[in-house]
Amino acid sequence: MLNKKVADLLNDQINKELYSAYLYLDMSNYFERRGLNGFANWYMIQAQEERDHAMLFYRYMQNNDCPVTLGAIAKPDKVFKKDMDVLKAGLEHEEYVTASIHTIYDAANKVKDFRTMQFLDWFVKEQGEEETNARDMISKMELFGSDPRSLYMLNQELATRAYSAPSLVLD
Ligand code: MG
Repeated sequence: MLNKKVADLLNDQINKELYSAYLYLDMSNYFERRGLNGFANWYMIQAQEERDHAMLFYRYMQNNDCPVTLGAIAKPDKVFKKDMDVLKAGLEHEEYVTASIHTIYDAANKVKDFRTMQFLDWFVKEQGEEETNARDMISKMELFGSDPRSLYMLNQELATRAYSAPSLVLD
């Protein structure tokens, strides 16, 4: 059995990852309405990845015979007035998720739960990549966002992003 505090944090993380998926879906929704289908595609893939993350936490708990309790997923409440608002909200959200993963890691470390720490290693690395991606999006938008022609090219580039399943697989 997992330590109660660690189990509760893992359970909460399922909800946080599903909320992330919901938030990114809303960001994709924003860009669909803007007519920027490449950006919409990029955020839709983000949403798919977040659902994958939720399922990894779910599967890890099930594999460790740990009861899962599913809670309500909050409404995405951010109001996006301009493109940059979306990108900045994305980075802010990833920083929040990173802190959340680190909190679980810390709790696992305190009770010498090495198995959970090893499971979380993948997410620690993943969060580093997510933050880098979010910062890259902001940099590109700062450079190209104000020129319609460049924005069009950036949109075309983001349209090429394809979904791939997470490298972490739990049987
Ligand atoms: Mg995630």
